[in-house]
Amino acid sequence: MPKKAPVIVIDGPAGVGKSTVAREIARRLELPFLDTGAIYRAVTLTMLRDNIPPSDSPELRGRLGEFSVSFSGVRVFIGGEDVTDEIRTPHIDANVSPYSALPVVREFLLETQRKQQKDGLIAEGRDMGTVVFPGADLKVYLIASPEERARRRCAERTTKGEHADYDEILSQVRARDEMDSTRDIAPLKPADDAIILDTTDLSFEDVTARVMSFAALVAEGE
Ligand code: C5P
Repeated sequence: MPKKAPVIVIDGPAGVGKSTVAREIARRLELPFLDTGAIYRAVTLTMLRDNIPPSDSPELRGRLGEFSVSFSGVRVFIGGEDVTDEIRTPHIDANVSPYSALPVVREFLLETQRKQQKDGLIAEGRDMGTVVFPGADLKVYLIASPEERARRRCAERTTKGEHADYDEILSQVRARDEMDSTRDIAPLKPADDAIILDTTDLSFEDVTARVMSFAALVAEGE
């Protein structure tokens, strides 16, 4: 009988490198990749464009009902519009957490996320292991010091030719951690059965190699 493709989830705080690692794991294992931060960012962009504040209101519910996000490789679309670059601006960074904290938003997006899982998946976010895919075959929770995460974000922005101020990014990373981990619904925290990996002193290659070795153990155990 052919082996069932695994569901692997990678959670962790802002700037820890989840997307880069998860994308590479998906490429190596030839599995679909789901960046759930992009979905929350797309919702935030939609609401900001329509001046709908982050509170449970008929306007927000109405707009959410019409919201549809899709992916094509690394590109992210709202309806037919490519919003890949627009959802990664500092403006969205600064506004995404209050929208993500709303139960109405999280409940609405639960199905959107789960239906991406057809035959195996690498999903990354904050609550993949605790809420969205609690039965995942492998749960990894990446951590790194806020300073290291701010340094990585700075380097990423500079590489893209964008302006990056380390102190500003560090305070934003801290603020986002605080909001994401203290919200009432699906707060940022590792699942009880997650493997916690501190990446502060590890390179991208080291982290990828470790996650690949965890994935190999899961595959052997089947
Ligand atoms: O991972 P990324 O930085 O793109 O996530 C953006 C924001 O989306 C997070 O700060 C968090 O507020 C929200 N998010 C979430 N749950 C997820 C993924 C992201 O609340 N599964």
